Amino acid sequence: MQSMAIVLAGGSGRRMGLSKPKQYEELNGKPLVCYCLQTFEDSFINGVILVCRPGDEEYCKNEIVEKYSYKKIVKIVPGGKERFDSVYEGLKAAGKCDYVFIHDGARPFVSQHVLERCLHYAAKYKAAAAAVRAKDTIKIEDGDGFIDQSPDREMIWQMQTPQVFDYRMILSCYEKLKKDEKRLEEAGVRITDDTMVAKMFAGVDAKLVESEYENIKITTPGDMYIAEALIRMQGK
Ligand code: C5P
Repeated sequence: MQSMAIVLAGGSGRRMGLSKPKQYEELNGKPLVCYCLQTFEDSFINGVILVCRPGDEEYCKNEIVEKYSYKKIVKIVPGGKERFDSVYEGLKAAGKCDYVFIHDGARPFVSQHVLERCLHYAAKYKAAAAAVRAKDTIKIEDGDGFIDQSPDREMIWQMQTPQVFDYRMILSCYEKLKKDEKRLEEAGVRITDDTMVAKMFAGVDAKLVESEYENIKITTPGDMYIAEALIRMQGK
């Protein structure tokens, strides 16, 4: 069974307000994206596709792949405008495999345990995604800043990555998405994760895989302090 990982590092990191995109920001002396790359390197994953911003290929080759001697990174490919464009570029580059792990490069603390659990359920259900149960009460607004709905907290999950899929199934979903992109945009549909794409174009419901609260996505400057504390705690 062949498993590939697509590590997404093609974002601009606007919300961090930094000159450098967040995936290259140093965390304890190492670029942020290296933490998950090391986890994939040490895992059962057969190969990794690193998706970067167009123009960053050389930087990634020299400052990431060669500097840290990653053996599993088989290709560095330029991503696209939106996250889903970057995923599509990664999927095309992955080539033949059975399962594909789509992971945000901005999530440094994914564990081996979560990778194993996700593969187990993806093999069973074709789609599985790391997630945690919401700790906070979640509300849905009415569009004017007032509370409209109060969904039962027991039923609310916060999605993370990796999101893991049968490769052929998710590739064909993304091919359909790319053909339908304009219509979806006009309809105001925002694609924010990959399980949405599997549901929309293959009718496949992803299995929620209970993950870890430490598997945070670095989004705002404050998240870097949390990440530093987690690194100290984990001794990475
Ligand atoms: O912006 P957001 O935090 O949702 O991005 C999630 C991940 O997707 C990040 O690791 C980011 O680098 C990546 N991304 C990408 N290509 C884009 C936008 C985001 O690879 N066009």
